[in-house]
Amino acid sequence: MPSNSPLQSTMFSETFNKEVFDLAQSSGYDYLDNVRDRNVFPSEEALYNLEQFEEELQGSPSTALEVIEKLSLYGAPATVAQVGGRYFGFVNGNSVPAGMAAKQLATFWDQNSGMQVISPLCSKLEVVIQKWLRELFGLPERTVAGFVSGTSAANFCGLAAARYRLLKRQGWDINEQGLFNAPKLRVVAGKHAHSTILKGIGLMGFGKENVEWVDVDDQGRIMADQVPELDDRTILILQAGNVNSGSFDPLEELCARAREANSWVHIDGAFGLWAGAVEKLQYLTKGMEMANSWAVDGHKTLNTPYDCGIALCEDEDALVSALHMTGSYIIIGDERDGMFYTPEMSRRSRIIELWATLRYLGKNGIDEMIFGFHERAKQFANEVSQIEGFQVLNDIVFNQVMVACDTDTLTDRVVARIQDLRDCWVGGASWNGRKIIRVSVCSWATTAEDISISVHSFARALKDCKNHD
Ligand SMILES: *Cc1c(COP(=O)(O)O)cnc(C)c1O
Repeated sequence: MPSNSPLQSTMFSETFNKEVFDLAQSSGYDYLDNVRDRNVFPSEEALYNLEQFEEELQGSPSTALEVIEKLSLYGAPATVAQVGGRYFGFVNGNSVPAGMAAKQLATFWDQNSGMQVISPLCSKLEVVIQKWLRELFGLPERTVAGFVSGTSAANFCGLAAARYRLLKRQGWDINEQGLFNAPKLRVVAGKHAHSTILKGIGLMGFGKENVEWVDVDDQGRIMADQVPELDDRTILILQAGNVNSGSFDPLEELCARAREANSWVHIDGAFGLWAGAVEKLQYLTKGMEMANSWAVDGHKTLNTPYDCGIALCEDEDALVSALHMTGSYIIIGDERDGMFYTPEMSRRSRIIELWATLRYLGKNGIDEMIFGFHERAKQFANEVSQIEGFQVLNDIVFNQVMVACDTDTLTDRVVARIQDLRDCWVGGASWNGRKIIRVSVCSWATTAEDISISVHSFARALKDCKNHD
C-alpha cells in the first residue's frame, strides 16, 4: 500500500478521532429518547428515502463521519421501532439496556468466540451461561449449550444431534457413511410445527413427505393419543410455545413415552421454553427435562439483542460429533471451544450480551419480566374482547393473543389499517382456516398503557374499515 493511501490515512486520522463514535452514540441516544413516542413502523417518507442507499459503490474511501451521518439520517427513521413498547409483530423481543450496552462495549473488542485461544473471555462466559441455563430450565447436569444465531440454527443442531445418535445406535456413522444408504429413521411431529422445523427436516435430508404428522387440538397442541407407536429409530419433535397461540404440547406425557421407547425428543421452545424459568408458568413446560435436545432464543422472550439463540443437548457426544470440526491449525483449549457446539467456526460474541442480560435480570428479574408479558397479554385479550366486533380465539396461557373480526375480509382490512395507523404493529396469519390478527407481547418496555393505546388503535381501525363499507 503506498504511504499516501487514502485508506491508511483515513484509518489513522479518523478511527482514533472519537468524533465518529460520538456521533453514533448521540444518534443512538436520540433514538432511544424518542422511540416510545414515534410511529412504530417507518413513515412513507422514511421508506421513500431508503432510495438514498441505492448508489454505486464509490471508488475512493469516504470519511467515517460521512458514513455514520448517512446511516443516522436515513437509517434511523426507516427502522421499525422494536425497542419501543408497542411492537407486537411475529414474536420479536426488545433488548434490555444492560444487554444493549454490553453489545456496544463488545463492539470495540470484536471478539471471535470460535475458540478459547481466540477469546478466553467468550469461552469463560459460555461455560458460565451453560450452567446458568441448565439451572434456569432444570435440565440434566450433563446438558451442553451451543450459542447460535437463533432457534432456526438451534433446531438444526438438535436434529443433527438426533440423526447422529439414532444412526450411530444402528451401527451407522452419518459423518463417514452419509445418508444415501443409511438405515431409515422416523420423524414424528405435530401439524403445527414451526416452519424452521420444516426447514431443518429438509436440510437433514429426512424429507417432509416422510414425516408422520400428528393432529393438533383447537389450541394447536399435539394430541398425545394420536402420536403413533414410538421406537428407538424415531425423532419426536415437540413444541413449547405455538407461534400463533402460544400453547404448549403435552411435554410430560410424550417425553415419558419417548423415553420408554428410547426415541429422541427435540423441543422447539424458541420463546416458550422460558416459561420453565417462571414460577407461575412452569407448569407449562413440566417434563421437558426428559427430552434430549432443546432450542431456545435469547432475542425473543429474554430480550437480548438480535441475533441470539441457544442449542441445548443432553448428549454432548452426539451434538459435538454431529457438528464435528477438524483441522491441523485448530488449537484445543483446556476449558471450552465454542465452535464444537455450533455449525459455525467464527462467530460474533453474542455470549457477552446474553451474559449481561442474565447477569442484570437475575432469576427474579427474568421471572418478573416474563410473567409481565403474560399479564399484558391477558390485559390485551380482556380489553380487545370488550370491543364489539373483535373476538379472542385462544386461551392466553403465555404471551400470544389471536384476535379475529366477524369475517376474514374484515380481519385482513383491519390488520392493514392498524399497520397503516402505526400506533402499534401487528401481523396477520391463518388459524384453522380463519384469518387472524396476531399479538405477541415480548418487550420489557411494554406498559399497561401501551396495551390500552394499542387496543384503542384496533378499535379505530375497525371503525375506519366499517365506515368505508
Ligand atoms: C421464532 C421461532 C423459531 C425461529 O427462531 P429464529 O430465532 O427466528 O431463528 C422457531 N420456532 C418457533 C416456535 C418460533 O417462535
